[in-house]
Amino acid sequence: MKSSVSIVKCQNYDEDKVLSGLRRSIDLIGGIQTFVKKGRHVLLKPNLLYGKSPEKAVTTHPAIVKGVIKIVREAGGVPFIGDSPSIGSLMKTAEKAGIKAVADEMKCPLVEFNRPVLPPKGGGRIFKQLEIDQVVLEADVIINLPKFKTHSLTLLTLGVKNLFGCIPGPRKALWHLKAGEDRKTFAQILVDIYQVIQPSLTILDGVVGMDGNGPNSGQPIPPGLILASGDPLSLDQIVCDLLGISRKSLLTNRVAFEQGMGKDKIDVVGERIEDVKISNFQFPTLSRPDWNLPGVLRKAIKNALTSKPVIDEEVCKACDRCAEICPPKALARRGKNLFFDYRQCICCFCCLEVCPEGAISIKPGWALKIVGRRQ
Ligand code: SF4
Ligand code: SF4
Repeated sequence: MKSSVSIVKCQNYDEDKVLSGLRRSIDLIGGIQTFVKKGRHVLLKPNLLYGKSPEKAVTTHPAIVKGVIKIVREAGGVPFIGDSPSIGSLMKTAEKAGIKAVADEMKCPLVEFNRPVLPPKGGGRIFKQLEIDQVVLEADVIINLPKFKTHSLTLLTLGVKNLFGCIPGPRKALWHLKAGEDRKTFAQILVDIYQVIQPSLTILDGVVGMDGNGPNSGQPIPPGLILASGDPLSLDQIVCDLLGISRKSLLTNRVAFEQGMGKDKIDVVGERIEDVKISNFQFPTLSRPDWNLPGVLRKAIKNALTSKPVIDEEVCKACDRCAEICPPKALARRGKNLFFDYRQCICCFCCLEVCPEGAISIKPGWALKIVGRRQ
């Protein structure tokens, strides 16, 4: 079976331009009626990782959410917005990200995910105990609204990764712990979530994205694009093409391919990939590269191949959010300073994700510095 991904140019967040970009991106893959029928309850799942203003490019832009609300209503659907931020309440996060203002203006409910339940057909394919929020499971239609960003654990956060937010807040830390230091295991968890949730439509906010050390501390960049697809896995593959990297370099893609998913031919409609390629993109420093080294050698130089979080004490404002979120409690305050216990650290970079000051960065192991490679 073929799947389609549309690529549409949209240079800025002017509301009219965004609305027309969204309409075109959806029309190119069959129109909104293909995904939303009259009277259906439609969950809009933006990326509301953390409460930062829209221009920081950490969260899905409010103009995208507003445009999708309008389009869903035109089709007779009943939209509501839902997510579960990494830390803090949804309301506060949505307020800072400009999403609450849109929800209020459009009279669109904002629902926090905090009711984890096992899906009726069971959890994930590999992780059977995977609990998803009840609201997600009860929605008639799910429209996934990821932001185009880098991610120090997963390389990029796009359509498949955005669904991790459907795991209610504190449960996310448990799944990070389950994956431990193994990035591929974490990718498997994400692929399991994707298989359980299967959103009807995914629209990527790539008008302004983020490169460098995302998902919270990178730099905003202007790809000027909106991508849409009925399948987030197909959409993620096309983003790899736009970046000029192998589709397999995104671990969620690789895990999905190994399980026979994502192998269908993908039709790209709208802009041609070669005309809108994203150049000079700064990839993040990853916790550990995916080199195929023999097990013994890998073990011997594990530290040299591992990137670790470090704190800039000058920038730190001692809010302790990083210590609060750390899944294995490898980060603790002693007096004025925070200390990492690197023997416990699983390199999930949740601490970096939630630091409001950008005080945490990633220090590559010496072998990574020597070869100067980032992935
Ligand atoms: S989250 Fe950032 S600012 Fe807050 S204590 Fe940690 S390093 Fe400091
Ligand atoms: S210290 Fe940071 S990177 Fe290490 S386990 Fe804790 S949150 Fe994850």
